[in-house]
Amino acid sequence: MTSSELREVAGGISEWARRVRELRNEEGYQILTHNDRSHLKPGEYLLEDPKPIPAFARGVSKETRALVLDRNGFTCQMCGSVAGETHPYDPSRKVRLHIGHIIDKSKGGSDDPSNLRAICSVCNEGAQNVTSIRPDLKHLLVKVRRATTEDQLAVLSWLKTKFPQQASKAIKQESDGK
Ligand SMILES: [Zn+2]
Repeated sequence: MTSSELREVAGGISEWARRVRELRNEEGYQILTHNDRSHLKPGEYLLEDPKPIPAFARGVSKETRALVLDRNGFTCQMCGSVAGETHPYDPSRKVRLHIGHIIDKSKGGSDDPSNLRAICSVCNEGAQNVTSIRPDLKHLLVKVRRATTEDQLAVLSWLKTKFPQQASKAIKQESDGK
């Protein structure tokens, strides 16, 4: 459907776009846009499956959602992709984050922020067989050491953004030590 068709069925009210976002982000409907599928044009919407994806945390307040996303650094806790960037495992899609349960509700998990995490739509759909096991430090360092200088500097700048206080403290200690 196009945005003009949606506006028409909404009876001309201007909130239709917000409702589309709510259906997608809060109720788990897979309403896809050109950010998700390259064959869609801007302003086109595709509901791929009438059934919402159950892994979405429903009934989570906007405040909790914001808190969890902020705590997780707007990063998918399964694959490490960052909101708004091109997805590393599916370049045709932009990373869109949702709130998911760590322990599924069917297994007794709660809606408490401690049981919630940011998860991208690609991981949520299980399309990627990305392991949720965290990389251990040794292997991580080996990978970073083998990366190009350009990529290492990108890691440095990302770390500086993520840990601004620790970074300036470390730099200060280093210059004091000289
Ligand atoms: Zn992911």
